[in-house]
Amino acid sequence: MTNPFDLTGKVALVTGANTGIGQAIAVALARAGADVAAAGRTPPEETRALVEATGRRFLSVQADLTSLEPIPGAVEQTVEALGGLDILVNNAGMIRRADALDFTESDWDEVMNVNIKSVFFLCQAFGRYAIGQGRKGKIINIASMLSFQGGIRVPSYTASKSGIAGLTKLLANEWAGKGINVNAIAPGYVATNNTAALRADEKRNADILARIPAGRWSDASDMGGPAVFLASAASDYVHGTILPVDGGWLAR
Ligand code: NAP
Repeated sequence: MTNPFDLTGKVALVTGANTGIGQAIAVALARAGADVAAAGRTPPEETRALVEATGRRFLSVQADLTSLEPIPGAVEQTVEALGGLDILVNNAGMIRRADALDFTESDWDEVMNVNIKSVFFLCQAFGRYAIGQGRKGKIINIASMLSFQGGIRVPSYTASKSGIAGLTKLLANEWAGKGINVNAIAPGYVATNNTAALRADEKRNADILARIPAGRWSDASDMGGPAVFLASAASDYVHGTILPVDGGWLAR
């Protein structure tokens, strides 16, 4: 019997794969058999070594996702170098923290450009390629607990991640019948650069930990298995879902 989680012969494009959740997902997809292209603004040399150690091919694509300019090229370079594209992981993201009363336009625009505008146009570029080729595809967007909850002091982040939930469902509605699965993973509290400030704040850290039924912060590698599932044939009938991977946080 074939393994429904096997990604042998597939090609994945992962944004922001030089570190954190993106790196963990890139490595998990490679371990499941996929070749990986990493699109981002920092050279992903550590990720390259980890992916190549699995025996899979790796491509680095230079892309600062505050603008749409690098997006068509990221898809084209991946297809040209790795022979196709089957899986898109929209992981690159950023956060800005300030009281709503003081929040600036640049903290709004920068976060929205990377976390939602570029994500939509990456999905569009992927959809145009895959649907144009009559090829099946898998899109995995990285959502957040703030796709479900309000959060505090992060207005543009909450707006962007709530937007990711809606966009994931909209694209699933349009593309499920065209052979493209669009889903999202909503990580709980993961120990990465993104949450360094929260973990450094003793009170916030204790409050967060007390509410996580699993009793620990997530390690980025916790996102690997769910990503392989959503990238593989095992999830062929899963469309438009926002999958919490949160140690039980939302169940509280
Ligand atoms: P991270 O370690 O800070 O990684 C963020 C990634 O996004 C990095 O690769 C970063 O590249 C990239 N990125 C940011 N701005 C970019 C830009 N303008 N162009 C291209 N790449 C850019 O944080 P993480 O926790 O792994 O975050 C990954 C995703 O998970 C984000 O979407 C985040 O919102 C989401 N998430 C995280 C948590 C958590 O608890 N950590 C929870 C829920 C959701 P550089 O290294 O070059 O900055």
